[in-house]
Amino acid sequence: MRPQAIGTGFERRRYDSKHRFTMGRINVSADNIFPIIKKFLYSDHEIFLRELVSNAVDATLKLKTLSRIGEAKGELGELFIGIKLDKEARTLTVSDRGLGMTEDEVQRYINDVAFSGAEEFVKQYKDKAGETGIIGHFGLGFYSAFMVARKVEIQSLSFKEGAQPVHWVCEGSPDFEMGPGVRTERGTDIILHIDADNDEFLEEYRVRELLKKYGRFLPVPVHFGTREETVTTGEGETAQEEKIQVPEVINNPTPIWTKSPGDLGPEDYQKFYRELYPFSFDEPLFHIHLHVDYPFDLNGVLYFPRIKREMELQKNKIQLYQNQVFVTDSVEGIVPDFLTLLHGVIDSRDIPLNVSRSYLQADGNVKKISGHITKKVADKLEELFKNDRESFEKNWDDTSVIVQYGMLSDEKFFEKATKFYLLKDSEGKYRTLEELREATQAVQTDKDEQLIWLYASDLHAQHGAIEAAREKGCVVLQLDSPLTAHMNDRLERHLEKTRFARVDSAPIDQLIRWADDKPLDLPEETADQLKQWVESMVDSKRFQVKLEALSEAAAPLGVHQPEFMRRMREMSKMGGGGMAMFGDFPESYELSVNAAHPLVKGLSDLNETERNHRLREMIDLALLQQNLLTGPALTEFVRRQLDKIGG
Ligand code: ADP
Ligand code: MG
Repeated sequence: MRPQAIGTGFERRRYDSKHRFTMGRINVSADNIFPIIKKFLYSDHEIFLRELVSNAVDATLKLKTLSRIGEAKGELGELFIGIKLDKEARTLTVSDRGLGMTEDEVQRYINDVAFSGAEEFVKQYKDKAGETGIIGHFGLGFYSAFMVARKVEIQSLSFKEGAQPVHWVCEGSPDFEMGPGVRTERGTDIILHIDADNDEFLEEYRVRELLKKYGRFLPVPVHFGTREETVTTGEGETAQEEKIQVPEVINNPTPIWTKSPGDLGPEDYQKFYRELYPFSFDEPLFHIHLHVDYPFDLNGVLYFPRIKREMELQKNKIQLYQNQVFVTDSVEGIVPDFLTLLHGVIDSRDIPLNVSRSYLQADGNVKKISGHITKKVADKLEELFKNDRESFEKNWDDTSVIVQYGMLSDEKFFEKATKFYLLKDSEGKYRTLEELREATQAVQTDKDEQLIWLYASDLHAQHGAIEAAREKGCVVLQLDSPLTAHMNDRLERHLEKTRFARVDSAPIDQLIRWADDKPLDLPEETADQLKQWVESMVDSKRFQVKLEALSEAAAPLGVHQPEFMRRMREMSKMGGGGMAMFGDFPESYELSVNAAHPLVKGLSDLNETERNHRLREMIDLALLQQNLLTGPALTEFVRRQLDKIGG
């Protein structure tokens, strides 16, 4: 891999004395390098501008450092990067006032060594000509200019005392010319003679768009084009307003993440969010400022977005920068998956700029960074929870999906999050796992010392079951996230002797078995007959009939979907967890018949017509409560009720 970062030393391309110069001929074994650059890099050829502007930034920052340590003498003047288009001459020029290059340095950095990267690239990717995308991330630094130019010139004057200006020209074959240059001021111009296939890069709007994309936060001002400004000249009577043209500055050289969190207020973070996403209407919930320089360099600001109920998850909102140069906004593999739902910016010098995505994902630094971000996010959430529980609770409905996703995908995050993971009950009260245990263990522990946590996914639809549970003094949670099934499973493995059960998945006495089941208290023959009567009235593939001795107060008949069945269904629907082998789980229910209920007991005293009628009504009512009475059965049911009203 080629060294990239500013700050890893100036002699990043150490001159290797083994390489002998072939004057007048670029030292590269592959003669066909230029056609390959053009052909291969076609898919993402716009990155040439990022590469050239990054080089100009590097040259400027190097000069600043040299000046600071006293190696560059004199005033530096205004340091900026200028981009100029000349449509007639068909040139695009990138100019800087950085440290410049001597003839020797052009030889060393441009002619000789620069090709090692290209050569390696050619060897590695020769057979993958058809693949797109690789190259954009690989990049070829300076030589990517040949993706869009038939001829490239360098005019440079080094900051070194007594340096002579140098001129280098290369017409896209391995031959180049080098001689005296014309620059009178320190710095470098890279002049691209745009080829016929790339007219777009002579268009102002296109170049501005690219500068905005890659250079929005570069640390050196980038000038492109001009804008009009009104200035007042003269004084008093003679004062005049005058319109003048001033260079337009494309970028914000000191974005928020380059500053220290202590110097920033909440409005700064909000303002920056607007700057990043001018088209977003939502305010973020809160932010995390990453500010690390050891053991690796990592800066950034991540925002927690408001997650909509419908889970329209917006990935790819995080932008990745390397030293303020935009790299990508698809951060999968770099940022842990569950955090790709966050918004914001990450900047690290330790992220290699010019490599393929797969390389990036395998990079050790990138992995460490990913782990670190996870830890930071967990710490921040814990801090918010401890310092301001009220607003933490207020935001919980919007943040919980991300937290759940994180808990399910990252063991370390799970451990941390169990401290601040909240469960909301049917009255809107939030409790931690610990608090919920406290609140429920007296009432909701069953005869086998299992603690049963009841939940509803829909307060409205499961109203009857919720009421029944609350009458017994139980807390009913509201768990309506798409990850509920997975989450409950995961929590059950973590917590001891604790189970989740949806409040309508069985009659309450069955959900929490406070005591042993009461015996049926029916002769076997009668029981069999009762079961047969009920079975004859329903689709036996969908409904499994069960006789139970519940209390007299419980419903005569109830329809339930057992917890286990539903969880399997939900998990297989959401995917993951090895559930695929279950395929599509069919809907099936338990139809529990309360043999202790007077209406059930009385069935044997009725004749067949009366009995079927009563069963029909009781079954339909049970179905109705579960929203399962639909279509012709519902029409029929309504008609029967109307008939009754008529007497
Ligand atoms: P990299 O930037 O990764 O080193 P490049 O191919 O982009 O690779 O550039 C090669 C080298 O050429 C740079 O390291 C630098 O020494 C020199 N160089 C390129 N552009 C400039 C410039 N505008 N001013 C000074 N030196 C430059
Ligand atoms: Mg470069």
